[in-house]
Amino acid sequence: MEGEKRKLKALSDIASIDITLEFNEILQRILKITCEAMGAQSGTIMLVDGGAEELRMVASYGLGQDYPERVHEMARKAGVPLTSSPSGTVLRTGKYYIVPNVLEEPRGKPWLNLTKELGFSSIIFTPMKKGSENIGLLNVYMAQPHRFTDEEIDFITIAASQAASVVQNARMCSRLKDNIQELKGYREHLEEKIEEAHKKLYDSEKYLRVIVGSSSDGITVVDEQGRFEFANDSFFRIIEWTRDEIIGNYFIKIIPEDMNELVFQQWNKVQEGIPGDFETKIITQSGKIKCVKVAHVLTKIRGKKKIVSITKDITENKKLELNLKESEVKYRDLFENAEDPMYTIDASGNFLSINNAGLRLLACTKDELIGSHISRWITPESLKAGNENFSKLASGESIQSPPVYEMISKNGEHRWVETRVRTIKNGDKITGIHGIARDITEKMRLEQQLKEFHEKLKKSYEELIEADRLRTEFVSNITHELLTPLTSIKGFTELLHDETTGKISSEQKKNLEIILRNSDRLIGLIKDLLDVSRLEKNRFGLQFGLVPVEDILLKSAQDVQPQAKCKEITIVQDVEPLPRILGDEGRLIQVITNLLSNSIKFTPQGGTITIAARENKSEIKISITDTGIGIPPEKLSRIFDRFYQIDGSSSRKYGGMGLGLSICKSIIESHYGTIWAESNGLGSTFHVILPKPENGKNPGS
Ligand code: ADP
Repeated sequence: MEGEKRKLKALSDIASIDITLEFNEILQRILKITCEAMGAQSGTIMLVDGGAEELRMVASYGLGQDYPERVHEMARKAGVPLTSSPSGTVLRTGKYYIVPNVLEEPRGKPWLNLTKELGFSSIIFTPMKKGSENIGLLNVYMAQPHRFTDEEIDFITIAASQAASVVQNARMCSRLKDNIQELKGYREHLEEKIEEAHKKLYDSEKYLRVIVGSSSDGITVVDEQGRFEFANDSFFRIIEWTRDEIIGNYFIKIIPEDMNELVFQQWNKVQEGIPGDFETKIITQSGKIKCVKVAHVLTKIRGKKKIVSITKDITENKKLELNLKESEVKYRDLFENAEDPMYTIDASGNFLSINNAGLRLLACTKDELIGSHISRWITPESLKAGNENFSKLASGESIQSPPVYEMISKNGEHRWVETRVRTIKNGDKITGIHGIARDITEKMRLEQQLKEFHEKLKKSYEELIEADRLRTEFVSNITHELLTPLTSIKGFTELLHDETTGKISSEQKKNLEIILRNSDRLIGLIKDLLDVSRLEKNRFGLQFGLVPVEDILLKSAQDVQPQAKCKEITIVQDVEPLPRILGDEGRLIQVITNLLSNSIKFTPQGGTITIAARENKSEIKISITDTGIGIPPEKLSRIFDRFYQIDGSSSRKYGGMGLGLSICKSIIESHYGTIWAESNGLGSTFHVILPKPENGKNPGS
């Protein structure tokens, strides 16, 4: 009973071993309690070492430190594995094995020698089981031969199983520890990963923020109810509202009323998850309307539906588009309604477009012309010239004057056009030409007419010149022919009158005087005619010299004095001292005399004629004023024309042929002077201006 109690206590001791102790220590204690309870000399606990099929001693009782080595040494020397020992048998069978007395054992078993050497007599080998697997042995060695009782066997079996569960626990524990370690490692790894992911997320968020922030387009997030949750700066710049006025507010706030329907339709589409874009208008805070293009997509952010949109300001584009449209319309209008034909032709000569004026020119419809080749509408000569010009354009040469082509309309009518063209290029390649033509058919016709007129005019001018030459010659001849006999008539009449040829009666003398007066008149007229023909031939033969103007005026006045006296006309001289001028004295006297005798002729009895002369800066002005019948203003310039008389009957009344003033004009102009008349209806004034010699001009040269 005593032994019984001891064993029960031992079992309770084993059960109450502090399992937090080291694994080896626990096994050591189990072994010790077991050996003591059995009254054994020594014991060991061995464990199967993994797959190596080796046994490893993990606890010993009553044995030296070198015991395991010695066992191994023995096994090595004997050339047998430990597993061939009774331990090996127990492990294989799973049943305890008892050696009651070593000495009674058959010889030849190597481990027996060791046992003997160690001084054991009896041994019990007990398997340590984990389920059906044997994980090791608990061996107890008795110093004396011993018969193990059933109780002892039960006890040791329980102890072995306790040890097995300790090992199992310990192993589990160590596996758990390993697992924990592994988990710890895993956790660390995960944490690292999470941190990395966080960093990545942060980076990508930062990245996104940069993108969103720097985008020139507006980017917004709107919640499911249509309230702004987020918007980037560009969005506020586009819509021209502040952040505070927008975030948290319904987007409809910035939609003009007339756009509400469209926007709601679009909103419904977005809600159905149909992405897309549309154009709308927005109203700025100040009430300005802007055009925007919005692209949107339905998405989920943190589990909630959101609408992400990108808004582009297209106000300017719209304006440009509108302008472009307008200018296109304007251009088209200009093109279509231009007065001149305008057209485009491709590089191979086919018509691509033409305006109404072009169609009118060619008398065809657009359908007939577009796509047709130019050669159909132009003469072969003009086509050749056109091709040459095109080659010039293609090689970069410029065409100086606008080329003229002869076009043929649909009904065969020929028309002339003057063209200005510009090449249409695609890169360096000329793909066609754009041209503006001017219909010059009428101009050409007029030019032709003008040319013909010119020819005619030239011919008649030449004829006229010839006729004039003949006339002048005739006048000159006839005057000579007249003058010679007249001079002779006058000479002989003078002889008769002077009674050189014998006495005549006073009646006869009177008649001869009439003949003489009329001869003088005739001679005067013939001389005038001669002067005119000389003037025409520019054969005046002026004799220039320095002449005193006062002398000219005095001599002229004396010449006409008898005439004036007849009509009781007073000649007043209002002449300053004047310098001499360069001129032909005789001819200048002829001019002044002529003017004075005209004045006398056209001034009634008792009138006054004033001769005035003044020196100006560079010229001398002579004016002859009468109190005569005057000259109508519209006739003032014509009286200097040859054969011109205001009153056709005046030659009968006053004499003369209308040549005097034209001769005066020629003479004055030969002196680089001017002559003109003025009249106020009560009388006339004739002005003559002659340059002073200092003036540098040399009259008559
Ligand atoms: P004519 O020898 O016939 O007078 P003129 O050439 O001297 O030719 O003059 C042309 C015309 O000018 C005259 O016929 C006359 O009608 C007009 N005429 C010239 N001088 C005067 C004048 N002093 N007063 C009015 N008419 C004048």
